[in-house]
Amino acid sequence: MAWRELRFDNSYARLPAAFHTRLAPAPLPAPRLVAVSRPALELAGIDPARAGTPEFVDVFAGNRVPLGADPLAAVYSGHQFGVWAGQLGDGRALLLGELAARGGNQEIQLKGSGRTPYSRGADGRAVLRSSIREFLCSEAMAGLGIPTTRALAIVASDLPVVRETVETAAVVTRMAPSFLRFGSFEHFYATGQVDELRRLADYLIAKFRPELAGEPDPYLALLGDVVRRTAALVARWQSVGFCHGVMNTDNMSVLGLTIDYGPFGFLDGFDFNHVCNHSDHAGRYSYAMQPRIADWNCWCLGQALMPLVAERGGSPDDAKAVLGQWGTLFDEALQAALRDKLGLAQPDAGDAALTDELFGLLHAGRVDFTLFFRRLSSVRTAPTDQGGDDAAGCRDLVADRAAFDAWLARYRHRLALEARNDHERAAAMNRVNPKYLLRNHLAEVAIRRAREGDYGEVERLLKVLERPYDEQPESEAYAALPPDWASGLQLSCSS
Ligand code: AMP
Ligand code: MG
Repeated sequence: MAWRELRFDNSYARLPAAFHTRLAPAPLPAPRLVAVSRPALELAGIDPARAGTPEFVDVFAGNRVPLGADPLAAVYSGHQFGVWAGQLGDGRALLLGELAARGGNQEIQLKGSGRTPYSRGADGRAVLRSSIREFLCSEAMAGLGIPTTRALAIVASDLPVVRETVETAAVVTRMAPSFLRFGSFEHFYATGQVDELRRLADYLIAKFRPELAGEPDPYLALLGDVVRRTAALVARWQSVGFCHGVMNTDNMSVLGLTIDYGPFGFLDGFDFNHVCNHSDHAGRYSYAMQPRIADWNCWCLGQALMPLVAERGGSPDDAKAVLGQWGTLFDEALQAALRDKLGLAQPDAGDAALTDELFGLLHAGRVDFTLFFRRLSSVRTAPTDQGGDDAAGCRDLVADRAAFDAWLARYRHRLALEARNDHERAAAMNRVNPKYLLRNHLAEVAIRRAREGDYGEVERLLKVLERPYDEQPESEAYAALPPDWASGLQLSCSS
């Protein structure tokens, strides 16, 4: 029976042939449902009661093309690890089309659905391990309120897939208003297809940024919009200790979304130089480097848009002026995010020094980033003897107690300037300092169980991560320090 209410459109498919290749997904043998995200399904306008029905599993395994869908692999290019890599494209993802949903159209994409003309010799598949990681982190980021592509479902199969070892295949269904990347623009720039470049920019503006169409130069305005959103996004990443791992320009969304979850990781112990991707030997994408890399990536996009800017009479200096705003925009966004983490509502001249000193302390002691900030809300402006030691939770995490106490004295002094009382401040801090994060070891436990056929842990973790700022007393174990074995986990690009 046809699934009548699930009716797709695909406006990207109506762009000229140079933009994509139409093809059907490769069937996934004997598919079974691993997990669905109810909030994501609701956002897509899909009734969660459908999840688990045979047609749901068939559609999200790629075994049945739904009404109105026009599956295609999109072409893009990009800079990988700072080097021009030429043509890439959806090597294992297919855009089915878009669903009309309450909050605007959402594109639905199957990832791991077989080879495409852009697979470059690879198998077009994704393994269960990486699909679970992408699924959970997409929804965890949404729970944190950080712009991201979403994940609707994972469907698994016994189909063997060879990576370092033999694993099994899965398809994760992703959702976003658009999956366009910096590399989508670089592709048409690098191949000298200026008409297609203009067509792509016009498509993006008309569909997602109509307010830019009336600007004197909509293309410069588009660049400015991406610069702003990217700066805001990376400030959010830094503020929760999220490391993307592979910030190549083909993994950068022009809508300012977190996209392409591979060897990502959240900081456990704070370390500026943490590199989550074990294939990244030079540490190009370390935690500390992420802002600079995002800035560099914006320059790649700026370069790609130059033919359009020039057509409008703009000069390289005009583009440079737009790109030059990155540093200020990022610094302002980060400082604001850090003030929020510290519960400082009114900016003060000494705030940057106060946060710098704290981060130096956290780095030196590899202090657990998430637990420290969550516990910081217990600190009172003027502690009383009866109240117990309000700072003990934080102090316990720091090896250098004298340094912590010196910082604490400055912090309390600073809190005295605040208009809010301790209670109000604590509540506000707990709305920005998550209690629950997708730490590597939590994902690893869910993956190990799933490989044994038990998907319950994926489900439980998903539920916890949907509300990362809420106290969830029944799930306290998910907020604990990572176990010793977690430090041995290695993540590479292999997915
Ligand atoms: P990533 O580093 O995951 O963003 O992937 C970079 C490029 O390699 C993209 O064009 C992907 O589509 C492609 N790719 C990655 N893994 C596979 C695979 N197993 N099969 C086909 N293409 C892949
Ligand atoms: Mg990618």
